Amino acid sequence: MNLTDLGGCQCGACRYAVNTTPFIAYTCHCRACQKLTASACLACVQVPIEDVSLREGKPSSHVRMADSGNQLQTFFCQSCGSTLYAENSARPRVRTLHIGSLDHPHKVEVQAHIWTSRKLHWVVLPSEHRVYPEAGDWTQDYASDPTRYHS
Ligand SMILES: [Zn+2]
Ligand SMILES: [Zn+2]
Repeated sequence: MNLTDLGGCQCGACRYAVNTTPFIAYTCHCRACQKLTASACLACVQVPIEDVSLREGKPSSHVRMADSGNQLQTFFCQSCGSTLYAENSARPRVRTLHIGSLDHPHKVEVQAHIWTSRKLHWVVLPSEHRVYPEAGDWTQDYASDPTRYHS
């Protein structure tokens, strides 16, 4: 899957461009993502960090400590509050784009779903997708270019 698109926040102050071959696209149903989105889940796509370039704006960020001890930093527009992407201290060369911030979110083919043990019951997942009750295992997805995964 190749992904070439522009993205940005709801008000348009923050804009970015992405041109890449993503590692993995998935939805996360954990409580933190439900709170972050004020919705049922977060849909995201992991890409090499150097394949995303900020074009306009200066996103603010919020850091939270995950149960794993990793720091999760979420970037958002300081004008409208829309989230754009996140970074994980355990994966310094990966940026996790929030799919809804892309101009053409249908370009991303979601293949997996994580933390489905917290999933709201009315969210029905395609049976052919990979499903993880808790954290996802992306070992096979990083295998194509492990140097990008490790710092
Ligand atoms: Zn904005
Ligand atoms: Zn989550």
